[in-house]
Amino acid sequence: MEDCIFWKIITRESPTGFIFADNDLVVFRDIKPMAPVHLLLVPRRHIISIAHLEEADRDLIAKMIFKAGEIAQDLNISEKGYKLMFHVGEDGGQEVPHLHLHLLGGARMKQKIEIVEK
Ligand code: AMP
Repeated sequence: MEDCIFWKIITRESPTGFIFADNDLVVFRDIKPMAPVHLLLVPRRHIISIAHLEEADRDLIAKMIFKAGEIAQDLNISEKGYKLMFHVGEDGGQEVPHLHLHLLGGARMKQKIEIVEK
């Protein structure tokens, strides 16, 4: 867990500006943005992925999704639309093993999935 880049960001070992932070979540810009707006919503608690959720995490996930919607409103990308993505595990293309929700917007995006290995 200590080696995880998002853990370092959450614990401030790696300095990154937060768009939003409270006791449950931090939100920051993706280092390699794939759209004009590309944010990551990350729970402070170390949960590896959606596949590792427990019953008690329901409120946290709901909060992440609602917060993404609020931020999209604040950034004026809500009306035209945006994309929310959870990558889950190896086949899902997850690179960082700490749960995060991608919020992408500010441009028209394709509905494209690229298979890299069967
Ligand atoms: P995923 O494939 O869902 O695990 O995506 C991880 C995302 O984290 C990628 O879009 C990376 O560009 C992003 N990322 C990796 N390291 C950093 C960092 N230090 N700061 C911000 N974003 C990062």
